[in-house]
Amino acid sequence: MERTLILLKPDAVQRGLVGQILDRFERKGLKIAAMKLMQITPELAAKHYEAHKERPFYAGLVRFMTSSPVVALAIEGIGAIAICRKLMGATFGADADAGTIRGDFGSSRSYNLVHGSDSPEAAERELGLFFPEGVPEYELAAYDWTYDPVEELKKG
Ligand code: UDP
Ligand code: MG
Repeated sequence: MERTLILLKPDAVQRGLVGQILDRFERKGLKIAAMKLMQITPELAAKHYEAHKERPFYAGLVRFMTSSPVVALAIEGIGAIAICRKLMGATFGADADAGTIRGDFGSSRSYNLVHGSDSPEAAERELGLFFPEGVPEYELAAYDWTYDPVEELKKG
């Protein structure tokens, strides 16, 4: 099992799209390992986006991400990082394929609804930033019918 940090950005919350976007992850069979509505501080935004510090869009990105609450999620599943990036679509809404979250709900370059970690290292770092309290341990009953219990879940 792999975990990734997903953020439903301020535009998703303000446009009332949280339910529809969350549904994309749930119906794929991914587990909501943790979820909270929270206000991102400038300090947290700076840590989260530190790789983009020198980019021309950085100041606007931090302003956007701290302008209104986000929904932070720890999403879990086999190959969750890559699967979530596929569900999200390309960075810019206008380029993102129809059927993806960004392709279906927006056309902006910056207001693109969702963040997802892009590697196992990024996921570990970002989950630590947004869920320093940790993630509750629970068994998702649906996993037994989402994956092959013998081949993929190694049960029995
Ligand atoms: N972004 C932007 N203008 C750009 C590139 C990126 O406003 O030219 C914003 C956009 O919100 C994007 C975020 O910066 O989601 C992080 O950029 P990244 O290249 O990491 O894209 P992502 O991983 O989110 O697809
Ligand atoms: Mg990125």
